[in-house]
Order: sequence, then structure tokens, then C-alpha cells
Amino acid sequence: MSLDHHKNSKDEIDARMDANNVSGKMKEYIHRCVAFHSSPAPGVLISAFMVDYAMDLLSVTPDMKLYAVCETPKCAPDALQVIAHCTTGNNRLRVVPIGKFAITLNAATHEATHNNTAMAVRVYVDLNKLKKFPVIDTWYANSPAFDKPTMKDTLQSEIFRAGREILSFEHVRVAIIHKMKWESVTCPDCGETVPDYLAKDGRCGGCGSMNYYEKIADQK
Ligand SMILES: [Zn+2]
Repeated sequence: MSLDHHKNSKDEIDARMDANNVSGKMKEYIHRCVAFHSSPAPGVLISAFMVDYAMDLLSVTPDMKLYAVCETPKCAPDALQVIAHCTTGNNRLRVVPIGKFAITLNAATHEATHNNTAMAVRVYVDLNKLKKFPVIDTWYANSPAFDKPTMKDTLQSEIFRAGREILSFEHVRVAIIHKMKWESVTCPDCGETVPDYLAKDGRCGGCGSMNYYEKIADQK
């Protein structure tokens, strides 16, 4: 199947966004998120609106130093990484696998140094507001009534029509995670080094509870 006939081509997504009056700024955010995520997953589209909403509520811009917590490992971390530049690699994104479609965002300038917290805004998908958008509601509930092949295009249109209308927010205070001072420790089992705060009883996690691979004896 050629790209032109792909069900979710960039042009098709654009047409659906235009039909639902999605702003130029949001269109750009969404295209970048979809490219990064490698598919226009409904969760990615919704989380792009979540991140944009959170930034507006805080009166911050993507060029500022922002910190995020994401309450799900699915989809939403990608919108935070692409739009707000809070990434796992720059340590400004923390994923807490609670399983809620919710994020908190704060700027470095919102930090209150005396008590190691920052004022943040928490944006979440509001179940009460989903009632106005039956297809999103069905998809979000993981209901068997959601039939992906026949309903995914309608779902996408409904997400674009809804925008922020399915979201609510609250002001919260979040703990600031400070960078730790550390020393290098050599693991006696593998001979590789790790920061001391990640070693357990002198051993690295790879030789302990975090081991995820088996050695292969014959390498040639
Ligand atoms: Zn080791």
C-alpha cells in the first residue's frame, strides 16, 4: 500500500484538523508528535492538547526549562518530550505508571527553594466532560463497543473537535528531584562501574534485581 493510500496520511490528518478548526500551532505540535511516536495514536493526539493546555495555564513557552510528571507510560510521555522538551534523557520527565491520562508541568521559575517543591499544574482527561464525545468516551473506557476499523477515523475527528474540552486542571505542588552527588563504584561481579546510589550491597543492578539478559558463551 502506497503512502498516498495510507489511512492516516499527513494530508488526511491535516484535513481532519482543518475541518475541526485546530489552530496552526496545534497542527504543528501534532504533526511533530505523530512523527516522533511513529503513528497518530489517539493518546498522542489528546496528550498534545494536554501539554499545550498546561503550558498556557502556566504562561510558559517550550524554550523555558520545564519539568513534567506523566501518570502513564503510554503516549503522553512523547507529547511532553516533543512539545515541552521534557525528556527522559534530560531528566526533566518523570513517568509514574499510575495508569491515568494526566500530566503535571512546572517551570524552574516556579520552584520554592525553601521547601523543595514547585507550583505545578495538573491536566487530566475529565470523565464527566467525555460524555459529550461518545466515541472518545468508548475508546477511553477500553470498551468492546469501540470497533477500531470502523471507528478510528471518527475518533480522530472527535479528538480534534474536542481539543481541550475533554480536559480539566488543578493547581498542585510537586516535589523537586535534585541532582545527586555521586561516586563511581566498580561492581565485583561484572567489573563495570555504576554511580554509588544505584549500587546495592556493592553490586550493580545488572548483576542483581535489574538483570534483563543472559550471557551467550560463544561470541564467534
Ligand atoms: Zn555488575
